Amino acid sequence: KVVVVGSANLDLGVGVPHLPRPGETVLGSDVVASPGGKGANQAVAAHRLGADTLLVAALGADRFGVDLRTALEREGLPLEQVVTRDGAATGIALIVVDATGENTIVVAPGANAHLDGAALTGLPALLGPGDVVVLQLEIPLETCVAAARHARRAGARVLLNAAPLPPAGSGALSELLREVDVLVVNEGEAQQLGGDATALRHRGPAACVITLGARGAISADPTGTRTHPPFRVDAVDTTGAGDSFCGALAAALAAGSDLDQAVRRGCAAGALATTRMGAQSAMPTATELDLLLAA
Ligand code: ADP
Repeated sequence: KVVVVGSANLDLGVGVPHLPRPGETVLGSDVVASPGGKGANQAVAAHRLGADTLLVAALGADRFGVDLRTALEREGLPLEQVVTRDGAATGIALIVVDATGENTIVVAPGANAHLDGAALTGLPALLGPGDVVVLQLEIPLETCVAAARHARRAGARVLLNAAPLPPAGSGALSELLREVDVLVVNEGEAQQLGGDATALRHRGPAACVITLGARGAISADPTGTRTHPPFRVDAVDTTGAGDSFCGALAAALAAGSDLDQAVRRGCAAGALATTRMGAQSAMPTATELDLLLAA
């Protein structure tokens, strides 16, 4: 089983001829609303690939929360562990993209910031050996630490996608890294954390994967460091590539794959996500993934 404890947002995207300067108003395209948030994205990715997947997340008691719940329901994801927080707003990401593809993003975490230990009380009964608990950093760090401890106590593995990174010097992040089995970061995050895959392993995780965009990925575990070639695709929108990678990695690990096999599936899933617009809508199915892997 894959249990994702993380964020759910509504992404509101708008295209503009150029990004507004402070004080400037620019006219944009029609707004496109789509379900997002790294937690929900990764849960959808794992679920589409056939993994028995559960999402633990918090929505606000507003229209957007209802819309997100409906969208996730349509995916077929079990939502018993998705709570609605009275008095909180649903998390929103305001995404502005200019003609060159450059963007600015404002995330209003809303209910995601209120996903606390109380939301995890159902977790221990749901977890067992072989399960993979997937975390990102769009919910409070303390909640991630608590979820990781629940996971380890149950004999489950902890996969952390350390994104977005908090400001440098976060003691809570160091604490979390000591509870992590598999760390996944992109190149920028690895740099910010100050190390290559081998150095990052010394912060706690037995295995570390660094994703390199169109160049594939690098992994390090006790058996050594390996490079994983990319799958060649015609990329149209890289949104969600990292989330697709993490969902696929978790699904493969939960199914018993070793790290190398799982990273290969992650690379294929990440590549496929770039061939379609959007985040959740771009996540590949198991059939699509197997086709690319067999090509
Ligand atoms: P993030 O979206 O978190 O920055 P990356 O850009 O590193 O993550 O992408 C995650 C994974 O998706 C990469 O390791 C790679 O395997 C795959 N991927 C991303 N962009 C491309 C691309 N243009 N072509 C092929 N594979 C890609």
